[in-house]
Amino acid sequence: PAAEAGLYSPSDQIILLNPENVESVLANSTAAIVAEFYASWCGHCVAFSPVYKSLARDIKEWKPAVDLAAIDCAAQQNIKLCSAYSITGYPTLKFFHAYSKADSKGEAYKAFPRDVQGLRHRIIDKLENQEPWPPACPPLEPTSQAEIDSFFETNNVQHLALIFEKASSYIGREVTLDLLQFENVTVRRVLSTEQDLVTKLGVTEFPSCYLYYPKGNFTRLKVNIEARHFYSYALQRLPGVVRSGRPPLVHIDHPTNSTEEPWRPFNRSRVYMADLESTLHYSLRVELAAHSVIRGNALVSLKKYISVLTKYFPGRPVVMNLLRSVDSWLQNQSGGEITYEALRKILDNSAQSPDTALPEGVRWVGCQGSQPHLRRFPCGMWTLFHVLTVQAKSTSPRGTDPKEVLSAMRNYVRSFFGCRPCAEHFENMARESMVEVDSTSSAVLWLWSRHNRVNNRIAGALSEDPNFPKIQWPSPEMCSACHTVRDNREHKWNKEQVLPFLMSYFSSSRILTDYLE
Ligand code: FAD
Repeated sequence: PAAEAGLYSPSDQIILLNPENVESVLANSTAAIVAEFYASWCGHCVAFSPVYKSLARDIKEWKPAVDLAAIDCAAQQNIKLCSAYSITGYPTLKFFHAYSKADSKGEAYKAFPRDVQGLRHRIIDKLENQEPWPPACPPLEPTSQAEIDSFFETNNVQHLALIFEKASSYIGREVTLDLLQFENVTVRRVLSTEQDLVTKLGVTEFPSCYLYYPKGNFTRLKVNIEARHFYSYALQRLPGVVRSGRPPLVHIDHPTNSTEEPWRPFNRSRVYMADLESTLHYSLRVELAAHSVIRGNALVSLKKYISVLTKYFPGRPVVMNLLRSVDSWLQNQSGGEITYEALRKILDNSAQSPDTALPEGVRWVGCQGSQPHLRRFPCGMWTLFHVLTVQAKSTSPRGTDPKEVLSAMRNYVRSFFGCRPCAEHFENMARESMVEVDSTSSAVLWLWSRHNRVNNRIAGALSEDPNFPKIQWPSPEMCSACHTVRDNREHKWNKEQVLPFLMSYFSSSRILTDYLE
């Protein structure tokens, strides 16, 4: 399809414009829209596209107030449209305010910055100076003592977060927008020149963030670093703060009395063998069973999958014996196809021997969901492949293909993973950047960073378990050394610290064996 041929794919959280949807996207939208008009042959556009994609991930939470779009003016079907918008050079960025008219040509950004922070600031500048204001956009102007005094009389929110900052800082407005989809918290910026409030709270550091409560009580928000990402992360996790429109948290610390199994208490910062074995059971006995005949690429995928499991799965001896017998059976299948029935027989026969087994059925622990349709198998899939990349880094001999585990995952997902849109997004990411993996360390980090991209994209979706919100993982609480900021105070992962964290978190010696039969 044409969309695929351009510089952006549907996985990028950027609306792909075309003659059919342009009017419904740009005209009369409740959110402001920033649209990039580019030509896929233009080198500057190619160079800019990773920045625009990062921007889309970075301001994902702002979507109800401002959203990003793009259109490939080099595509035959878009040429007329781009000339109707008076596009003469690429890339052109245009701002369309909320409720723009169908004939609006938008307002072009002159000489726009080519970095995420610069672009974000320019978007805020436009947002602040537009009419009409997008209804979902919270107030961005600085607040005052007088306004704060009456705040709790007119607002029924639990937390008021005040970000004290210099007039030139954007952090307060950025955090306000980052929190716009969350309830029970309001964020306002306070300028360092607002003497009454600065004195009353004894503020000496700019920026800094305070939580302000009725009757004038306040406490300082504790963060590792005084910067946007750290404030937003901490505020989204305050007690009572929830995503708007989501069902309230389910109390899951009591065993249920329905047909559902009782809740198994577990440590949220550990990996459980029960989840890994459940994932194997589900993939081998349920997911594969949907394919009565396995041939061609799918057969190659299956062989690779079992082969990396045999090599790197840190399983119990009985489980490893089962994987080895499946592996050697598969290696001996020289015909172009197998039936699932034949594979099932191998699984069943092997399971009859006392030293070979794969527990039947699933027993989720770290991957339990607060509802039957949440978490479980996809959670187990991620966990399994993180464990495998980590095992490959610690045990694979020199000269092994560093992409061995990732290619096996890519093939498995493409051939068998039941969530087809997930498989398509994963394939887009793999196609885009898996070639860059050149060592087993970079394989571990690649999977971690792509998993975070997925977390970013689906945060707030219906598939998100409200009890297990999607975060950029690991959180500052789990690994404070993993997080740092650049000179310009932008959040930056400290990969030198993330790698050892992952190596330890997913290491075979730390996997807990509670709840195994
Ligand atoms: P999961 O995201 O499944 O993570 C499991 C556990 O891994 C977490 O509890 C945490 O302990 C740890 N973890 C979290 N982030 C990281 C990280 N960055 N690195 C290492 N460990 C981490 N769902 C969709 O709605 N749309 C999709 O496009 C989509 N694509 C998917 C693609 C693949 C390949 C897979 C396996 C799943 C995909 N899913 C998708 C499902 C989704 O990613 C989650 O698995 C599912 O929503 C369950 O989420 P969870 O809360 O259990 O955490």
